[in-house]
Amino acid sequence: MICGSHRDDGKDGETFVRSENVKGHRPGNDPPPSKVERVGRVCRESDCDTRLSIYNKSGFCWQHQPLIFPNYRGKRLASS
Ligand SMILES: [Zn+2]
Repeated sequence: MICGSHRDDGKDGETFVRSENVKGHRPGNDPPPSKVERVGRVCRESDCDTRLSIYNKSGFCWQHQPLIFPNYRGKRLASS
């Protein structure tokens, strides 16, 4: 079929152009390799291998995350 051979040609051309684009270094648009590593992280606690979501910035699972309370405690106590 003409369609088949034509498609092959187009594919080859596309691949070539694409690899050239990748070679071109776009400044500021370079994803750091460390970001890829973060996808498979587990909790920083050595005994804990709970998997962390990629959105988890603390590095700890919900169990080991340090709880940080805002300074409202004093106020609350005073009001109650
Ligand atoms: Zn943990």
